[in-house]
Amino acid sequence: MRSHLAGRLELANECDFVMHRGRSLDVIVSAETLRAPWPSLVDPERFAVVSLVIETIDGFCEPDLPIPEVYELLAGAIAAVASAAEPRELLPRFALRLLEMLGLAPPLDRCVRCGAGLPPGAVWLDAEAGGFIDERCRERWRDLTELKEADLENLRALALPKGSGPGVRLRATPPGARAVEELIAHHLGRRPKAVSYVESLRPSGGPRA
Ligand SMILES: [Zn+2]
Repeated sequence: MRSHLAGRLELANECDFVMHRGRSLDVIVSAETLRAPWPSLVDPERFAVVSLVIETIDGFCEPDLPIPEVYELLAGAIAAVASAAEPRELLPRFALRLLEMLGLAPPLDRCVRCGAGLPPGAVWLDAEAGGFIDERCRERWRDLTELKEADLENLRALALPKGSGPGVRLRATPPGARAVEELIAHHLGRRPKAVSYVESLRPSGGPRA
């Protein structure tokens, strides 16, 4: 906190560090700021969304285990949030891409319990099983998030990698967004704390105050 380098370490800054390897903690020798999106993130919704993005990636990643793909996703997400008019709409696609990179993406074409192709019509999210289930595998007493065919189609388009052409979608339907959020909470073992900041803001798509 008292270091003359502290100013470079603002939330979401991308920095280049020279580190001295210590016995337990490494010591920062010098820091150069590469990108400082901070001023563009000082907006309650952007701040809440970027906090959730950072907390989610931090929760899934281990120290000293670099995953360059995830780093790029993080840098891209921060830049997108800093310029988005509706930042929370970026969350479902970000979360799906992250799950995909970690090998945790839900299969979007078959039931995770019996392996049968997902039928047109309704399917349900079984977060504990890591994906969607069909009518046959659904226990009726369980209160599961239901998705219609259009929601599933939307998730398929949302999961496409960047540059896959005109089929890529950026906005999730509300049931799709809820399903992705539940999957993240399941794989993380908890709901990220920043979810409550995001939820305390105005509803997505509503008028700006
Ligand atoms: Zn099934």
